[in-house]
Amino acid sequence: MKKQHFIPLALAATMLAACSTVSMTGRRQLNIVSEADILSASLTEYQSYMQSATKSRDAAATQVVTTVAQRIAAAAEAYLTAVGQEADLQNYAWEFNLVEDPQLNAFCMPGGKIVVYTGMLNLIGNGTDRDDELAAVIGHEVSHAIAKHGQERASQQMLASMGSSVLSGVMSGASSQLQSAVATAYGLGTQYGALLPFSRKHELEADYMGSVLATLAGYDADAAITLWQKMEAQSSGSQPTFLSTHPSSTKRISELQKNNPQVKRDYAAAALFPSSAAAAAKATTSTAAPASSAKASATTAKSKKATTTAKKSSTGYRIGN
Ligand SMILES: [Zn+2]
Repeated sequence: MKKQHFIPLALAATMLAACSTVSMTGRRQLNIVSEADILSASLTEYQSYMQSATKSRDAAATQVVTTVAQRIAAAAEAYLTAVGQEADLQNYAWEFNLVEDPQLNAFCMPGGKIVVYTGMLNLIGNGTDRDDELAAVIGHEVSHAIAKHGQERASQQMLASMGSSVLSGVMSGASSQLQSAVATAYGLGTQYGALLPFSRKHELEADYMGSVLATLAGYDADAAITLWQKMEAQSSGSQPTFLSTHPSSTKRISELQKNNPQVKRDYAAAALFPSSAAAAAKATTSTAAPASSAKASATTAKSKKATTTAKKSSTGYRIGN
């Protein structure tokens, strides 16, 4: 009888060891795939994608993407460092690309490989809120990466396809199954660049974290709202890729509208860069402290999270779960 308990207990112990927490939201997640393995597999997929991709030759447009992406990357690094997760960054080697593709899409793979399609940049246009909307897109995608959503999905995929026997194989290192799981999780290989639909939980979490990163990078987080509205309007014809893989909804927009004021209160004072024109114009207070202490604000905001999470339960959506 005791032996029957051995495997479940060992499995439970392994699963417990494989649990981690998304620091910005406090949500627990199961990652049976190691960080090193997911980074290696992701890099292979990224390099394969870039070999077939056509990088934009528009130097000015590429610079726009690079500038915004660099600021979002700096915000992500500052945040992870502030909450003691700088070890997550050791294998990050940020790359920023604008790729010729009419689809409304963008992605950031583990390891910090960011790709924005020209179709997305064209939709955003050249208005005064251009950089803020671009920050919303890149902030959302970088959030998927730093929250390890791909790792979580690859883990779920491997568990689903291989059952508990996967554990011993996964722990021993990279495998063809892992490569396949990563390729599937990112929709690469057959439909380059198109992320498969993330769960509603992941999408809302990336939206929330994207607002935090955009704010820390000095952008107006509310640009995410106008951007999603723009994309919805665009979807009246053919379904844009970004929407088909990143389901949009009034719920999603209403969550941003509800959470952004608190995000700004918690993080604007720790912004690493001067506010964008739109963010400055919308600032309701001039009491923001100098951009000096991401750590204090990030950790304060983190502790506040426990109370804000409880409040969210009445809406039926709990980002902390
Ligand atoms: Zn997403």
